[in-house]
Amino acid sequence: MQGMVVAVVPAAGAGTRLGGARPKQFLPLAGRPLLTRTLMVLEQTPQVHAVVVVCPPGGEDETRRTCVEPYGLAKVAAVVPGGAQRQDSVAAGVAAATKLGAKWLVVHDAARPLAKPELFARVLAAAAHTGAAIAAVPAADTIKQAGADDLAEATLDRSRLWLVQTPQVFERGLLERALAQAAKDGYYATDEAGLVERLGEKVKLVMGSRDNIKVTTPEDLALAQGMLGAATRVGQGFDAHRLVQGRRLVLAGVELTHSSGLLGHSDADVATHAVMDALLAAAGLGDIGQMFPDSDPAFAGADSLELLTQVVQRLAREGWRPAQVSLTLLAQRPKISPHYPAMRAKLASALGLEPEAVNLAASTTEGLGFVGREEGMAAWATAVIARS
Ligand code: MG
Repeated sequence: MQGMVVAVVPAAGAGTRLGGARPKQFLPLAGRPLLTRTLMVLEQTPQVHAVVVVCPPGGEDETRRTCVEPYGLAKVAAVVPGGAQRQDSVAAGVAAATKLGAKWLVVHDAARPLAKPELFARVLAAAAHTGAAIAAVPAADTIKQAGADDLAEATLDRSRLWLVQTPQVFERGLLERALAQAAKDGYYATDEAGLVERLGEKVKLVMGSRDNIKVTTPEDLALAQGMLGAATRVGQGFDAHRLVQGRRLVLAGVELTHSSGLLGHSDADVATHAVMDALLAAAGLGDIGQMFPDSDPAFAGADSLELLTQVVQRLAREGWRPAQVSLTLLAQRPKISPHYPAMRAKLASALGLEPEAVNLAASTTEGLGFVGREEGMAAWATAVIARS
């Protein structure tokens, strides 16, 4: 295909059927705005050179700030305000794409984050022959036309029916002509191909994918979430601290009476540190050393449970929540098991979990190694996190 290919993504709808106060394109899908997920696919589609996002009027800055800039979407060349109807928004996007020098236009719904780069490639290849091509799937269900009172009026011939999706690809001049004619006639269609068909031009149907759903209801959002990959992840954490005289001994947020305590920049709660590292590992977010540098005086003597709540908030921003934590403490003395219920309650509360989802175990090392010699204590933790 010769010439510049620009995608136009209409995302100007108020669409609040998903139940949120915000338009659906800003709702999180697997931790990122729905619109961002869709733009990420275009970013990975080599045949698309640039992207124009059409947003609610006045929402240009917010769209850039929340959906584009944090995610390194280099192809997004313009964010422009849309109109009252989808067709008006597409026309605004087409005007911006023309300024960029587009030869081919790819119109793609912001609410279809599961379209694959291969689908864009196939529809573009078909459009090179006809000037217009769209993704669609043959109807699998029988389709009836309803009359008054939901009474079936007619059964349509399914063998000739296709359900239309996006992407829809057009030679630029052709879509411009179709939009201009529709504007002149005050005609509105539910897809851009309908406007091109009205001119008597050919539109090729290209086999789309049943996965390429339009996210419209909360059920769609859950389905899309599942299709985007793992709903749970696992991480492990380890920590060790030195035992010294004259320090408090804090383990899993509980202060124990003992002849010595753990040395560290914060309260040196070795158990909570291992849990934080396990959570960060599960989410692929590094470790607590990166999040709370011990060169930072803000964390001197810090309450580790408070840091744990910050880790939970950090995960929430990425779309994850703790689901289960398993902790093993290595300490020669004092006896840990009498403190299990209090430790479990403290950790569970900071994690936002039921105590049953937090397990504690402790072991001595039978006098072996640094733990056995009571030079220090160590902790291992495993965390399971789930999509929030
Ligand atoms: Mg530590």
